[in-house]
Amino acid sequence: MDKKGRDKKDKNMSCSFCGRNYNVVKRLIQGDRNVYICNECVDACYTLIQKDKIKSSKQFHKTILTPKIIKKHLDEYVIGQEKAKKCLAVAVHNHYKRLQSVITDDVELEKSNILLIGPTGTGKTLLAKVLSKLLDVPFAITDATSFTEAGYVGEDVENVLLKLLRNADFNVEHAQKGIVYIDEIDKISRKSSSASITRDVSGEGVQQALLKMFESSVINVPPQGGRKHPEQQYIQMDTKDILFICGGTFSGIEGIIKKRINEKTIGFQSKTGQNEDISDGKILSQVKIDDLIDFGLIHEFVGRLHVIATLEPLNQDDLIEIMLEPKNAIVKQYQKIFEMEDASLEFPRETLKEISKLAIERKTGARALRSLFESFMLDIMYELPSNEKGSVYIITPEIVNGKSSLIPQKLRKSA
Ligand code: ADP
Repeated sequence: MDKKGRDKKDKNMSCSFCGRNYNVVKRLIQGDRNVYICNECVDACYTLIQKDKIKSSKQFHKTILTPKIIKKHLDEYVIGQEKAKKCLAVAVHNHYKRLQSVITDDVELEKSNILLIGPTGTGKTLLAKVLSKLLDVPFAITDATSFTEAGYVGEDVENVLLKLLRNADFNVEHAQKGIVYIDEIDKISRKSSSASITRDVSGEGVQQALLKMFESSVINVPPQGGRKHPEQQYIQMDTKDILFICGGTFSGIEGIIKKRINEKTIGFQSKTGQNEDISDGKILSQVKIDDLIDFGLIHEFVGRLHVIATLEPLNQDDLIEIMLEPKNAIVKQYQKIFEMEDASLEFPRETLKEISKLAIERKTGARALRSLFESFMLDIMYELPSNEKGSVYIITPEIVNGKSSLIPQKLRKSA
């Protein structure tokens, strides 16, 4: 209420906080009934609140993990992929810094969603999972192929937020700071990069829907999942602080990148003249936004994925390291089971080489390892609990490739 609009009978109006009369302050705001606050008290309250925010943000800053610590933690579970780990560590650090920053008038830190590109079974999902565990935030994983544009058979994109909410025990505030991993993002590309006349149910429409979710907006989440319908009650979720990580193999994109690089050098003999010889793994690391658009992602969608990290194919040595080194390495897990049966298990180097060779033949990256182990370990796992205690079992390459089923055993030396 300003001075002009005031009624004569209100001339005793005064600020309920400082007691100053209306005619000595610039503005008096009326609350419920006869409660007033003057502009000066509003300013004082604002300053107090800002100070509190800065204080709590400073405390938070102390606990934000540095990129180095994040990467070190990723190293414990994810072998190789140095560049992707670094990219993620920095992006996640900045994301949490942003969450805890006080938004001042002039600087607003923007959210950076992440796109992971790499062959299947190279650690994309694993990276996202390990991150969520480290940060202790709710995590939801989904497959972009299950989504369809609203109005078609399939899931609405909002269902992934429901998953996040479920994983946060329906604590909306907690869920709003979670991480969502969307796999197979390359499968929702447009069928061709030129505009299509027919409706593209699984592609562009889904990208548009996801786009809305990536942007900071309040999304209506159906608590029962499934399709939205008008009579339904919704839970409102703000996605501004949710970190979205998308992953995809983008198979065939190497050709697009090569074409772009070669076009650029046409007419100029490159210094090495070896453009054609760069391996697909190295080529992938040169991916640019234009290549993703050529592949079939829409411009606005790519524009919301600020950080692009590429993963390299895993070679034999990487696979051996994966079998042995991570905290949850498959060899360690089997050895633990044997230990619980008062037995020991050994994998000589040649055996590990044989396993990695077979895994590479399957072309599913490290994903092949578990199923290989499950198959050659089945018989011994069946026998083990009934066998005599105190034995050492040695898994030979012949057992792995099916040429023998006899597992050499020796008695364990007593300590
Ligand atoms: P994708 O890249 O297809 O998402 P995943 O991350 O799901 O592959 O990998 C499947 C499994 O393979 C993981 O659960 C993990 O056991 C193993 N794995 C894949 N890549 C790595 C890696 N770089 N380091 C350690 N384990 C890995």
